[in-house]
Amino acid sequence: MTELVEARETDPKRLIPGATDDWEVIIGLEVHAQVASNAKLFSGASTQFGSEPNNNVSLVDAAMPGMLPVINEECVAQAVRTGLGLNAEINLRSVFDRKNYFYPDLPQGYQISQFKDPIVGEGTIVISLGPDKKGNFEDIEIGIERLHLEQDAGKSMHDQHPTMSFVDLNRTGVALMEIVSKPDIRSSDEAKAYVTKLRSILRYLGTCDGNMAQGSMRADVNVSVRRPGEPFGTRCEIKNMNSIRFIGQAIEYEARRQIAILEEGGEIDQETRLYDPDKGETRSMRSKEDAHDYRYFPDPDLLPLEFSQAYVDSLKSDLPELPDAKKARLINEAGLSAYNASILVSDKAISDFFEKVAEGRDGKTAANWVINNLLGKLNEVDQEIEDSPVSPEQIGGIVDLIQEGTISGQIGKDLFDIIWEEGGDPAKIVEERGMKQVTDTGAIEAAVDEVIAANPDQVEKAKQNPKLAGWFVGQVMKASGGKANPQAVQALVKEKLGVE
Ligand code: ADP
Ligand code: MG
Repeated sequence: MTELVEARETDPKRLIPGATDDWEVIIGLEVHAQVASNAKLFSGASTQFGSEPNNNVSLVDAAMPGMLPVINEECVAQAVRTGLGLNAEINLRSVFDRKNYFYPDLPQGYQISQFKDPIVGEGTIVISLGPDKKGNFEDIEIGIERLHLEQDAGKSMHDQHPTMSFVDLNRTGVALMEIVSKPDIRSSDEAKAYVTKLRSILRYLGTCDGNMAQGSMRADVNVSVRRPGEPFGTRCEIKNMNSIRFIGQAIEYEARRQIAILEEGGEIDQETRLYDPDKGETRSMRSKEDAHDYRYFPDPDLLPLEFSQAYVDSLKSDLPELPDAKKARLINEAGLSAYNASILVSDKAISDFFEKVAEGRDGKTAANWVINNLLGKLNEVDQEIEDSPVSPEQIGGIVDLIQEGTISGQIGKDLFDIIWEEGGDPAKIVEERGMKQVTDTGAIEAAVDEVIAANPDQVEKAKQNPKLAGWFVGQVMKASGGKANPQAVQALVKEKLGVE
């Protein structure tokens, strides 16, 4: 349906070696994102996930004769917000069409969708690949073709009864945004980065929860291959992928399958395929329908959807800060590295957590604590930040204790481990367990003297090579159980050794 315009030059880094030639993979994604709204697109029925089968079904959803669809304004607002978040053109007039096909989970016998005149036109998403070995990121712009609103279908259940199939219409009529990319994606890594970034934008906007496991976000992945410089090849569409990892695997497999066929002199059939994660391969589901098979026509029950620029502007003025803007702010204003800023904005939950820790504190210190200690630990135990046993307030408390000199950074890490296991108020734990840093120079001096007296050989060496002073600092810190103030120890060691 879309006119294909060459948007990117061939990048030799991303070519796939074939038997006789190198190949370029071309990818375009159609992402179905469930609109975050309490009611369906054209009915007041609930969208609650996990309800008993057929509990969220109105007469409209069940397609009873004479029922009329009524547009849910909140779904329209969510689509416009999403379009704005994708830097896309918002169409003040769009049209709902009927896409006709028969399936038991589609009582109307057609899906209400948008075909020629979608609510949102062309936009862009910037994905960031990396870091490479030098720690650099590469930003790539992927074009958005369109975003349109449509109804979801129900679910056939074939495993409930030995001889009958059941149908659950809870999903029928739930609002989806179909977000179609241009064929600008050139590798499985780019595809994964694209879905991750899109999901993150939707979550920042609050227009879709992005929960792929629950089916709130699914992707159809279009893949073709070509020798660099040739026109686009025939594509296959891998349907209904709901895992970012599997999207990457399916693309790798599918590209190699197509290359093998073409290298043998064969042709690619345009078809719809399914990915089987157990076998790690795609298999044919059906040959692809063309748009004319659906007999699209404007839904006579619905007027064209029209709104004013003022309406769009008011939604725009209420948009939250999005990941790209936040990343720029963290780099330029808080002085974070591009690497740390990218990690912190990558996920709305991480970003929210970080903002709470950073509130009223040094941004770099807060970033280091969230990334190195919290995310490191969560990664180790394979847990999400939403389930973190340590709260932003607790991490903030630890940071404060370090900054005011009550504890050293090392003790801060021990304190973090204690709170991770047992919970509790950081300041209270430090008080109760005697973890306070020793700044009393008399006590530190005694410890320094002791270490110097016990190691005459090392003292001689250190006088020749002042770098060895660090060894004494380490010994004193160890003897104090990490509680001595490191700056005070260092100053005293240097003084006593007579080195600079
Ligand atoms: P359809 O509904 O027929 O799949 P759409 O226009 O909704 O058509 O989506 C087509 C998708 O396929 C877009 O994401 C587009 O970028 C992608 N695409 C089109 N041509 C190719 C191609 N040759 N190789 C890979 N992807 C392609
Ligand atoms: Mg498609």
